Amino acid sequence: MNAPFAPKRPLVDTFGRTISYLRISVTDRCDFRCVYCMAEDMVFLPKKDVLSFEEVETIASAFIARGTTKIRLTGGEPLVRRDIMDLVGTLGERIGSGLEELTITTNGSQLAKHAEGLFAAGVRRINVSLDTLNAERFATITRRGRLADVMAGIDAAQAGGLSLKINMVAMRGVNDDEIEPMMAWAHGRGMGLTLIEGMPLGEVGLDRVDTYLPLRELHERLANRYTLTRLAKKTGGPARYDHVAETGGVLGFITPMSHNFCESCNRVRLTATGQLFLCLGQDDQVNLRDALRDGGRAGLDAALDHAMLIKPKGHDFVIDRNAPAPAVARHMSVTGG
Ligand code: SAM
Ligand code: SF4
Repeated sequence: MNAPFAPKRPLVDTFGRTISYLRISVTDRCDFRCVYCMAEDMVFLPKKDVLSFEEVETIASAFIARGTTKIRLTGGEPLVRRDIMDLVGTLGERIGSGLEELTITTNGSQLAKHAEGLFAAGVRRINVSLDTLNAERFATITRRGRLADVMAGIDAAQAGGLSLKINMVAMRGVNDDEIEPMMAWAHGRGMGLTLIEGMPLGEVGLDRVDTYLPLRELHERLANRYTLTRLAKKTGGPARYDHVAETGGVLGFITPMSHNFCESCNRVRLTATGQLFLCLGQDDQVNLRDALRDGGRAGLDAALDHAMLIKPKGHDFVIDRNAPAPAVARHMSVTGG
């Protein structure tokens, strides 16, 4: 058994929030171009600017030493980064000595290939993003994905023992007619379904005002048809979860736009190039790659202390026809969703 783990100096910000959850974007690249996430002609970062696995591991270690218990790998599409399973394996070795959970958010396109390896590395729960069960609509939303690949990935992941949650961005006029079928399908297969409100991150190929669907309104609609019971589960994030009596499954709502969750925020996000963003909806950041290259582990620790001093209180997203630009210029795929 591993010895009990005591963080040397927990990461606590100026609002008294303890940071225990790190999201790592391992690449900004992706094999899809989802309309709400990326522009069709998205320009990716030069590969030379992307952190090496060694650098990611060093940064992750510094976080774990200071009390991070949960790491989620994301992107871009994490499973398209070359040799990604090497990183998953190394981080997985930390489970039980500080790290409690290693998870991944994926579009599922490469999951059939990697499901077994993920489980072997210690990953137990994963999030798969899927906005529709209709193959044509899937091709339109992702611009280049194939639904059959994702379905094969989901099958393999379940067969391999992974517990799955499906994330669906709910868009008015795009896929809002599929919310109930998606719930029946996901819950029927023993998977949770979490609905996400579209956020104004980066210029993309979608009219965010027309497609914005406030989930508060949707929750009311569903509550008239289903018996929804709020679950106590606290994530420190923007999600709330309901148990649905009719399906026996869990329905989540991620409502960054219509619900303020910032007071319990426990997370920070590392980009593929080593910038640590302290809030998804703000520009405050520290450069951990420079800190590491210039000052080694001591430099990293000092940068983490500084990060805690500048983590903002919260975001203020607005979706407004008259707003000249997205609330935050960087795309979700850069910050890591
Ligand atoms: N490629 C992986 C995937 O799609 O799961 C991981 C990265 S993706 C940026 C993470 C999550 O962010 C996905 O569930 C995606 O649907 C969501 N997302 C991307 N852009 C978004 C936006 N503008 N508003 C809300 N959710 C968004
Ligand atoms: Fe790629 Fe995920 Fe963004 Fe879709 S949501 S374009 S799969 S990073």
